[in-house]
Formats: sequence, structure tokens, C-alpha cells
Amino acid sequence: MISNLDLFRNSVSFANLGSGSRGNATLVACQTDAVLVDCGLSCRQVQRRVRRLGIAANRLSAILLTHEHTDHIAGVRVTAQTLRIPVYMTAPCRERLRGGRLDLPEDVDVRTFKPAHPFRVGALEIEPFRVPHDSVDPVGFAVGVGTDRVGVATDMGSSAPKVIDVLRTCRAVLLEFNHDERMVWGGEYPQSLKERVLSRTGHLSNKQAADILVELRRGVTEEIWMGHLSESNNTPQLAMEAARAGVGHRARKRIALRLAQQDDPSTLVHLGRKAIRRRSAR
Ligand SMILES: [Zn+2]
Ligand SMILES: [Zn+2]
Repeated sequence: MISNLDLFRNSVSFANLGSGSRGNATLVACQTDAVLVDCGLSCRQVQRRVRRLGIAANRLSAILLTHEHTDHIAGVRVTAQTLRIPVYMTAPCRERLRGGRLDLPEDVDVRTFKPAHPFRVGALEIEPFRVPHDSVDPVGFAVGVGTDRVGVATDMGSSAPKVIDVLRTCRAVLLEFNHDERMVWGGEYPQSLKERVLSRTGHLSNKQAADILVELRRGVTEEIWMGHLSESNNTPQLAMEAARAGVGHRARKRIALRLAQQDDPSTLVHLGRKAIRRRSAR
């Protein structure tokens, strides 16, 4: 298979394979290496969705985990075993997984990293940064080569100065637009779950995400992907309205706003190659 990656030398590419409470996975790739940020989809779905982008699944080099919640790890074991690729996670995350539902077998190569300590997977530079979320040691990632970086920040209950600092350096950002606060309060969730979602370590509301976009609009960001939308407490329209308000009138021509879907993976986006962005082969 001629890989789409081979057609775009010196370019960082990314795609949303799935985003939401039924499974998360984001692909970030350069010409020589490709990583998955989270693997909450089944191995079969990962392979199918990566293939649709024109990339052979055996081009994947590693899986990076943001945290241990099921919607981010459900497909990790089978995917890592099938493709024989390492899985990167924090040491507390590895401890939490041990003995649990995702006790990775001996033949899976688990490697640990520390938040705020950058590392590499082949040519890809990875910067993990802490996010506020109710799991053991949750992180977001900036992944790329040089200044061509993709930021992934979902599953965080609130923002933090460091999160903004890193996302500002990313040309594309996948940011959580989880819920509309009024929909959560007026919705069917039990009170305890409402409080969890809305807490500082729960999930990011449209308004909170829009406030982050205000901080990003003077930076280098040119692609904002709204992700991890709640199916019961949000609508694509509400998320888009909030994002438009956050980006503001002036930056709207420069910054593209897109929805990261749960079941309909995106096409492959090549940073800095807007004019020749390709549709994926279906
Ligand atoms: Zn999640
Ligand atoms: Zn989570």
C-alpha cells in the first residue's frame, strides 16, 4: 500500500479515529513514525479506520495513554499485541492497570514517562503535560516534529496555565467540548454524576473550552477540533457556537473549527498543507 504519509514528506499529519465516551483514539504521524494517542477503540476498528486514511496499520509505532479510563484503553491490549508495538503511560497509570481489567500481559512492552518530561518515539517528539481529571495521573500530549505539533487535551475538568502554555505551541489542537452546563443540570444523570462531570476534575464544558480558545487565538493554532462531546449533554451546534465565540471574529478566517466525531473518523490532516489536504480513500 502506498502510504499517504509517504506523499507528504516533512509534514506532520493527524486524524481523529474516534472521540467520545464510547472510545477515543487520535493518530499523529510524520513520514517515518505514527502514534496513537489513546486506544479506546477495538483493534479491528483501529486497523479499519487507519486503513481508510491510506495508512497500513503496521506503520503504527506506539500507543500513548492519557489515563486509565475505559474509553481510552479498551483496545490497548489487543492492539499492542497484534501490532507488536509499545504502550507508553505514566508509572501510576501502570500501577492502576496492574491486576485490573487491563493487566497487560508480559509480552506487551510497557514504557513509562513522567508528565512534563518530553520523550521521543522515533522522529516524533512527545511532550506530556498534566491535566486536572479524576484518574490517577492524567496527561494531555503535544506530539509532532519541531514546531509542527498536535495537542490532545480531552478529559479535563478545568484548565491550567501549563495546559494553555503547551496548547499555544500547537498548530492543531483536539480539545474537549464535553457538555453544555445547563443540559447537565437539566438532564437525566443522577446528582452525583452531574457533580462529578461538572467538578474541576471532571469534564470540560463548552464554555470552559471556549475560554481556552480565547487564550489560543493569538498563537500558532490553525486547527481546532472539538472532541469528546457528550451524547446526552451536548449538541454539535452548541459546541460549535461556543467555539466560534471563543475564537472570535478576527481569528475566524485563520483558525478552522471542526468536530471530532465518535463514529465517523476524520480525514488525514497535514499541518501546513491546507491547500492540498486530501480526502481519505474509502
Ligand atoms: Zn474519556
Ligand atoms: Zn476520563
